[in-house]
Amino acid sequence: MRMETIHIQRQIQHFEQRCKGAGLKVTHQRLEVYRELLGARDHPSAETLYKRLERRLPTLSLDTVYRTLATFEKLGLVHRLETAASQARYEVLHTRHHHFLCDVCGQVFDFFWPSFDTAELPSNVGEIGTVDHASVVVHGTCTACAQAQQEYDARQAESLQ
Ligand SMILES: [Zn+2]
Ligand SMILES: [Zn+2]
Repeated sequence: MRMETIHIQRQIQHFEQRCKGAGLKVTHQRLEVYRELLGARDHPSAETLYKRLERRLPTLSLDTVYRTLATFEKLGLVHRLETAASQARYEVLHTRHHHFLCDVCGQVFDFFWPSFDTAELPSNVGEIGTVDHASVVVHGTCTACAQAQQEYDARQAESLQ
């Protein structure tokens, strides 16, 4: 069996245990929403997830996807990313990581930052309240967008000559 398959099976097991522990039924729809998000690498929005699932699950509604994701978030199964865009983006909670958000195309990239993870937060944060977790969102322009912009500028400059 491939490593990835084992990993997915473990995650699904964890998911089922977490649902049962919270008295939540593991319905086919819930399982499919989780599974789809588990396999996604692009931090999809609820709308994107819905579009991917609707062919397989014709009775699914966008509203159900929203509610399901909200429930999963409360159970600590998924993480909702606050982005500058209007639509929240989701991912299954996995290895601790941070996010690079391209402000041009809206893609979200994962990156690791071990020295941040092991650093202590400033003590005055504790005066504000208790911290559950800390993560970093870096805003910028991804390499593909920067390159496209460069090529566009070059063409503009050429046409002006
Ligand atoms: Zn980009
Ligand atoms: Zn991520």
